[in-house]
Amino acid sequence: MPNKNDKPHIIILSTGGTIVGIAPSYTKATDYCIGNLNIDTLIETIPQLHELAHIQCEHIANIDSADMSDEIWLTLAQRANILLENPKVDGIVITHGTDTMEESAFFLHLCIKSDKPVVLTGAMRPSNTLNADGAKNLYNALLLASNIQSKGKGVMVVNNDRIHSARYVSKTHTCNIDAFSSPNVGDMGYIVDDKVFFYTLPNKPHTTQSMFDVGCLDSLPQVDILYSYANDGLAVAAQALVNQGTKGLVIAGSGAGSIHKNHKNTLQKLMQEGLIVVQSSRINNGRVFVSERDSQCGFIGSGDLNPQKARVLLILALTQSHNQAEIAKIFDIY
Ligand code: ASP
Repeated sequence: MPNKNDKPHIIILSTGGTIVGIAPSYTKATDYCIGNLNIDTLIETIPQLHELAHIQCEHIANIDSADMSDEIWLTLAQRANILLENPKVDGIVITHGTDTMEESAFFLHLCIKSDKPVVLTGAMRPSNTLNADGAKNLYNALLLASNIQSKGKGVMVVNNDRIHSARYVSKTHTCNIDAFSSPNVGDMGYIVDDKVFFYTLPNKPHTTQSMFDVGCLDSLPQVDILYSYANDGLAVAAQALVNQGTKGLVIAGSGAGSIHKNHKNTLQKLMQEGLIVVQSSRINNGRVFVSERDSQCGFIGSGDLNPQKARVLLILALTQSHNQAEIAKIFDIY
């Protein structure tokens, strides 16, 4: 065990989620209230956390992550960047609901300007249930954020002992404790018996190499997602969203990103008026392929980004440019 003063200084930023939820019953894990437990109280119940690091806690929000907002994203990124500039801070752990964790993680992966570790974690079970997973996840997140090997690897998510890169992670189970995976690439690493093992590295620019800077922003451009299905009403929905101020649309297309032919004229008309359209897929694995013709019309492929991740990238891209070709290039790079 290192000397007490050698321990890293880790800041925990709490945003809510099931990890601070309390269920009405020891055995029921669904109908519960989020935010009834204070993160400091959870930390007090796990004395082992203090063996890993000097911990300081800040409360950013206390929400179900389904209610995540642009304001909270901006606060998180701006606060994290200020904290990480402090030479006395060695890393950050963010506690977060699991529902939109992949989106917040990817947003931070692209906006954080430091190579110090930033780790998101949460829980699938409220804190007082029989198989509550929050304490172990929080312990693992602290362990990962305190590990020297975690430096320079971008933002990570840890859940159920599995380490994921924010670039690839997705919530892939609605209720199982093992709720996250990284389609196409697999886990980034694994934690067992207090040891961290890394298998892969994120291969796209992030954090210190990323072009995005939200330091001075107080709002983000509106980007929405439309889901494709047989006989969908995509064109009507797209026009309605643009009327309400949407600047970018991600289509969760069928298969490799297909869009019903009846909607393409409307989308092209909207693109001529400045809307940016990204084709993603409702399928969790593989890549999107944009035909030569569609790409000439201005549709941008999301590559291997799922719709919610493509939305994050399009939001950030629109903070830099409204030019279709420039945004297409951003999608190639990130
Ligand atoms: N609905 C919760 C949330 O995302 C689920 C969780 O934390 O697991 O905040």
